Amino acid sequence: MIKLKGKAVFGGIVSGKIVFYSRDESVVEKRKIDNPDIELQRYEYAKSCALSQLNELYNIAVGDVGKNDAGIFLIQQMLINDIDFNKAVSELIMQEHYNADYAVAKTARDFSQVFSEMDSDYIKERSADLKDVCDRLIRHIQNKSENSFNVCERAIICADDLVPSETVRLDKSKVAAFCTCYGSSNSHTAILARTMNIPAIIGIGNGLLESYNGCEAVVDGYSGMLYIEPDAQTRAELEKKRIHEAKKKELLKRLKGKKNITIDGTEVKLYANIGGLSDIDSVIENDAGGIGLFRSEFLYLENDDFPDEEYQFYNYRRVLEQMNGKRVIIRTMDIGADKNISYFELEKEQNPALGLRSIRLCLERPEMFKTQLRALLRASVYGRLAIMLPMITDVEEIRRTKALIEETKRQLDSRNQPYSNNIELGVMIETPAAAIMSDRLAQEADFFSIGTNDLEQYTLAMDRHNLRLESYGPDHHTALLRLMKIACDNAHRYGKWVGICGEFGGDMSFAEVFLAMGIDEISVAPSVILPLRSKIRSLDVSGKEEILKKYGCAD
Ligand code: PEP
Ligand code: MG
Repeated sequence: MIKLKGKAVFGGIVSGKIVFYSRDESVVEKRKIDNPDIELQRYEYAKSCALSQLNELYNIAVGDVGKNDAGIFLIQQMLINDIDFNKAVSELIMQEHYNADYAVAKTARDFSQVFSEMDSDYIKERSADLKDVCDRLIRHIQNKSENSFNVCERAIICADDLVPSETVRLDKSKVAAFCTCYGSSNSHTAILARTMNIPAIIGIGNGLLESYNGCEAVVDGYSGMLYIEPDAQTRAELEKKRIHEAKKKELLKRLKGKKNITIDGTEVKLYANIGGLSDIDSVIENDAGGIGLFRSEFLYLENDDFPDEEYQFYNYRRVLEQMNGKRVIIRTMDIGADKNISYFELEKEQNPALGLRSIRLCLERPEMFKTQLRALLRASVYGRLAIMLPMITDVEEIRRTKALIEETKRQLDSRNQPYSNNIELGVMIETPAAAIMSDRLAQEADFFSIGTNDLEQYTLAMDRHNLRLESYGPDHHTALLRLMKIACDNAHRYGKWVGICGEFGGDMSFAEVFLAMGIDEISVAPSVILPLRSKIRSLDVSGKEEILKKYGCAD
């Protein structure tokens, strides 16, 4: 047995097979190429390789499962040879000068869309075959080997690190846990693991070797331990712990429907952070009062091209409908820094976390931004929508966004498409500038939500992805808490409400100071809601001044 220790990110004890995630899988970049003839040849060659592979698979399958079931590989060969499919791919290469793998990925998406709109179930099912075939083609174009992850159930995904665009694309139903050599607890991969209820350990270091690929292992996401090929005694102890934790979870369920109220009667709203529609079940299951942060950029990260208005509208609308009138705060897309994606074709920057990202990028590309705003406005009639702007540093950014929203409304008027006139527009307080200017921002925005992940990194000049900086002393919390208090006071001065949506909001040991400073809402990963409710119900914050002093937020 090999024992490895890392930092626990999300609790849970699970066993499975280790699958080392190899970075060179199906990342399709959108590029313009100089020589379309050569690119077309690459496509034709990939096609012939894929066809002969499928033929081989057919012959093996006939032996294993009979002609009928093996027929799937014949259908896939027909799809590769389809005239319309080939015409679309070669037009993208020859006329628009796109790289071959992008041309295949785009054509697959377009065809899939058409398939999904057909009445016939048979045709709808062909979407999966099309995806399979295109993944195969792309692998050949990129000269990559078969993706082992696709064939493994309940995998413990191990990697040196994972970026958000990789994490969101993994098939969650097959992921039992994540373990990484590097990373930090505020990284988006850690955040995603928490949101998706997937046990995770980060920062294991170089001891996590690729040679463990295929080994049986158990992850203890509570203690941050990874056991490779555990012995019977360790397995038994972990099983005991798993049962104990499951009982504790069961007990917390009794708090469903109860108020988030302290002993002295201070109430706070508890909302959930989500990355997309698939997280909603967990939001409802954990009795969230609303959605405090929908990171809409994950819709962009999941796709190989800009998600269009309809696709976004559908996702926002479904979230609003499922939340059934509860407040849903959708943050406009926050692309940039670690959440980069090739089709944005962002220029290389020396410090992308300080660069043309987030709201700056949106204002710089108003047509792209308006697509998202139109989708949001159209969805607003299906529930209680609030829009939130990320990375705000001054009032001008809010005003410019408001002008774009007005423009968008006129477009919808001309299309006779309805929207709500009661949409709150809030801003994130995640730059020191926003906290310092929060008196002015409060006059322009309907609410604040404090993004402590970024506010902390920008205030302290500490990269949020650097695990080695996580153990810094209590002063870093004091600096952060003081800025939070400034924002909180300024919001209240102008009659606005203020929430927290960074990971710090889920840190139980600080709950009393958040309440003492008057935070109105805390948004956390769905699984944190009931434990936090339990904590809040055990607190007495009647001595607010004393609590603020204790944390260095008052003299
Ligand atoms: C934050 O910065 O605290 C936040 C909630 O946004 P993100 O983690 O997506 O940057
Ligand atoms: Mg942020």
